[in-house]
Amino acid sequence: MYQSFIGLEVHIHLLTRTKVFCNCASSFGDEPNAHVCPVCMGYPGVLPSLNIEAMRMGCTVARSLNCTIPDRTWFERKQYFYPDMPKNYQISQFASPLGQKGCMDLEGNGKTTPLKKRVRIKECHLEEDAGKMIHLGRASLLDYNRAGVSLLEIVTEPDMETGEEAELFIRQLRRMVRYLGVCDGNMEEGSLRADANVSINFPGKGLGKKVEIKNLNSSRFVRLGLNYEIARQGVLLDAGKEVIQETRLWNENRDQTEPMRTKENAQDYRYFPEPDLPVFAPDAAFLASVEASLVELPQERISRFMAEYGLSAEYADLICDEKAEADYFEEAVGQAVKQGLEKSDAASRINNRLVSDIRHILSREGLPVSAIAGVRITPRRLASLVVLSARGKVSGKNAKQTLEAVMAEDKDPEDIIRERGWDLLTDPRQIAREVQGVYEAEGPIFEEARGANPKRRRTLTAYLVGKVLERTAGRADPGIAGEQVERLIGTPL
Ligand code: ADP
Ligand code: ZN
Ligand code: MG
Repeated sequence: MYQSFIGLEVHIHLLTRTKVFCNCASSFGDEPNAHVCPVCMGYPGVLPSLNIEAMRMGCTVARSLNCTIPDRTWFERKQYFYPDMPKNYQISQFASPLGQKGCMDLEGNGKTTPLKKRVRIKECHLEEDAGKMIHLGRASLLDYNRAGVSLLEIVTEPDMETGEEAELFIRQLRRMVRYLGVCDGNMEEGSLRADANVSINFPGKGLGKKVEIKNLNSSRFVRLGLNYEIARQGVLLDAGKEVIQETRLWNENRDQTEPMRTKENAQDYRYFPEPDLPVFAPDAAFLASVEASLVELPQERISRFMAEYGLSAEYADLICDEKAEADYFEEAVGQAVKQGLEKSDAASRINNRLVSDIRHILSREGLPVSAIAGVRITPRRLASLVVLSARGKVSGKNAKQTLEAVMAEDKDPEDIIRERGWDLLTDPRQIAREVQGVYEAEGPIFEEARGANPKRRRTLTAYLVGKVLERTAGRADPGIAGEQVERLIGTPL
């Protein structure tokens, strides 16, 4: 058995309106090269200026990852040539990144990942993204809309050991930055991308020769790529061979990593401090704005939902995945409590409706879970329905229909239920009249039930209660109808 070491470098696009060092819009999907200017095109003699919003967002992520923000943080030039980077250097951070020495705890399932495991964060640094190359046959086209867009890189220490742990790290981080509202977390579109570093070694021997898998654009590929590498490197060591230090790519069609370039020694980027940007020394007002942007993080919220509402870990995790859904849940439970339900009862009823009916409706309408914030079934409307159902004012089947009608007609559930006559009939005298009607039509069945064995009797009773429901278009309270039918059948012979 070998020991394995995994460290991740995750790049996230910050949701700033403009690029990190110029005023061009950071928007995607527009005409190529629509958002460029002399600064992001690297013309000689132009001056970059720091987008303070990018700095604030970066520091918010850093603080949420328990990093320290240094008193002075600055930028360096990282020199290398690539056609998608017109300046021939990237402005990045090297010696004094904006976030330093933090950690994130993985909350695992205990099966493929430990229940709790701390991953140290080495640093978070702010930099600019490069443009995009589009290869068309023998020609390559360049789109610089992405060049200069704010990118935050989060670098972990090599504390993870399996593909599953790395996948969980990415998922938790993605959820965190979405909660903070600083990144949309869309991995397919490249708003969040990861490079995964992995080495194995004989136990107790420390880190091995590392291989970097670049540009993984799904958390599943992170898991698959890493587990493939751990196995591949194990075969090499088993055979007494050495692992070559190199950069590889995940080939999703062949389910394997393939070499991209060897990286014998650390590349020399000739970093030096960016002379056109001043050192950034955060003042009290800046730090206060960072603190003000912090929110209750997903893992904290999950724990609170379990303690406060009595939700299972699984449901708490499901509901807290999207901040909008967790907010909706809390609002709806609050409303139901205001209308007199006990908190954990309200929570479990709201949870059931959310997970089954409302998620179902959203997906049928082709809406993402986050669209729950603007849906016609508002938290107040859901709360009213749940309260009516808890008080036995509407049957389970009709409650579901009511939600569909609220969605279709944009009315309150009380109105729908009244208009459709779905309010449950609970007046014993009214039900007695209907039971009497059934007795007149089905007398022989009552006779048979009285003389029948218990099993047959139950079947016949259910049949008769069904007849009562039929006569009331499903409105009669089945419990009350059942008692009355039993009484009319009388004691067994
Ligand atoms: P580089 O200089 O090659 O960029 P860094 O020290 O900056 O390397 O580390 C980059 C990432 O690789 C970090 O996430 C780090 O945890 C991870 N890493 C570094 N060395 C190893 C190793 N021997 N095995 C696995 N991961 C490693
Ligand atoms: Zn620009
Ligand atoms: Mg590095």
